[in-house]
Parts: sequence; structure tokens; C-alpha cells
Amino acid sequence: MKIVDSVAKYRALGLEDVGFIPTMGALHDGHLSLVEAAREHNNRVVSIFVNPLQFGPNEDFGKYPRQIERDIDLLTNAGATVVFLPSVEEMYPEGATTRIDVGAIARRWEGESRPGHFNGVATVVCKLFNIVAPTAGYFGLKDFQQCAVISQMVRDLDLPVRLVFCPTVREGSGLARSSRNEYLSNEDRDKASLIYKALVEVRKIILQNEGVNAALKVGETMLSEAGFTNDYFAYVDRSSLEPLSHVQPDSVLLVATRLGPVRLIDNLRVN
Ligand code: AMP
Repeated sequence: MKIVDSVAKYRALGLEDVGFIPTMGALHDGHLSLVEAAREHNNRVVSIFVNPLQFGPNEDFGKYPRQIERDIDLLTNAGATVVFLPSVEEMYPEGATTRIDVGAIARRWEGESRPGHFNGVATVVCKLFNIVAPTAGYFGLKDFQQCAVISQMVRDLDLPVRLVFCPTVREGSGLARSSRNEYLSNEDRDKASLIYKALVEVRKIILQNEGVNAALKVGETMLSEAGFTNDYFAYVDRSSLEPLSHVQPDSVLLVATRLGPVRLIDNLRVN
């Protein structure tokens, strides 16, 4: 596996047929499943870049887990061919002020809880696509709204990249794998499995036609009674992310909740 730390060095490789996996590092099985999914390409390029633009002023940019040596070992074993490690200075030189705003789909849910977050995500992903020139980009459905935002951007800006969205990888307990799980104490990590249990329970009630609002209330209460502070628990259309009041095809549950200082998101397809 080649380790490349500048745009010029990456371009000098002259790669064709690239499956690209953008990440912020602190890699786990969720990320590695994306590398596996990209096996159909001759080159599997993983970027590791903790993108300052997508963190709010009071968020965890400074303490986001960074474990580059370990990540490199994991990627070597997973069959990545290139790891691209750009610097903040090269990605955002002084005077680089352009930002991508994808519009309404980025304003709801995560966008409301984390203003500016998706502008940061869209801007970095667009820049990385331009640098890496991938055939296909691989993203995890764990970040459901992020997939919707990137789809919108690729469509609207005619970016020549095929998008592949891969299923959420979970721990045995049901907890979605996330770099932020490392912030959880053992006790809270056990508790956090309740997020998935709540999603499954709410889906069951919705599919029994017992009312969307009542179902969401059950999920919210399961979490709040266990000590979580909920940002949102929503039942939405998979394309528009607009809330739904009745059971509909192509729908998904979205949840964001906090356990102490740790903010966790998850989602579950309903039908
Ligand atoms: P991140 O490093 O958090 O920016 O994530 C990089 C990519 O990995 C994104 O496309 C995420 O959606 C994806 N990802 C993160 N966690 C998981 C997971 N548990 N299952 C599948 N994909 C994931």
C-alpha cells in the first residue's frame, strides 16, 4: 500500500479505475467494509482527513481520535492500495473561501443540530473527488443524511462519480460502529445499544399501523428514560428526508441522541 501525503504525489501516481473511500480515520469495521466493497476496482484509495470545516466551534475537532499508525496497518490488511493523507494547509490554503451549499436537504436534522456541518462535508468531498478522480465513491449508510447530501451534490454539479452506499456495520449489541464510540465508557457503550433497540421497536410499531407519532414517542422515551438527551427521532421519506405522518414506502427512521458529552446518530430503513 502506498502512503501519499500531498496532492502532487497523488496525481503523479496517474491512477485509473479508482474506488474511493473518504474517511476521518480512527478506522473500524464500518470503514473497512467500504474498502471491501470497493474490491471491484483496480485501485482502492482511502483518504484520512479530519476535516475542520465540518466541525462546529464547540464540537470535538481537537479531540477527534487520531491513530494513524494503527489505521495504516488496518488498511494494509484490508487491501487498500493507496492511503491519501492531505494536510489542512494544502486542503484549505489561506484565501480559499469557496463553500458548497447543497440546499434544503442539508438544513434538516443533522443540519439543524450542527449548522454548517454539511457545507463542510460537501466542500471537502467535492475537493477530494476533484483530487482523487475516482470512478466510484463509497459511503456508509450509517450517515444516512450525508449520503443524501452527497447524492444531491453529485447530481446538481454533474460530478463524474458513481456513488455506492453500503450497509451500516454494527457491534454484536446492535450499536452502529463509529469512531465516536471510543469516547464512551464501558457502561455507556452497553447503554448505547439501546439506540438500535429503540429503532427496531419504533419500526415494529409503525409497521403495525399504530401511529407514527405514538411510535416515535415510544422510541424517545426509551432513550430519555435511560439518560439520553435526544436531538431528534424522526420518520422520514428516504429521498427528501421530509417527515412522514403515516406509514409509507421508501421510509427511514433517523435518530440523533446524546449520552453525556457523546453525540451518536443512527438510522433504520422501515420499508
Ligand atoms: P467517517 O470517518 O466517520 O467520516 O466515516 C467515513 C465513511 O465511513 C463514511 O462514508 C461513513 O458513513 C462510513 N461509516 C462510518 N461508520 C460506519 C458503519 N458503522 N458502517 C458503515 N459505514 C460506516
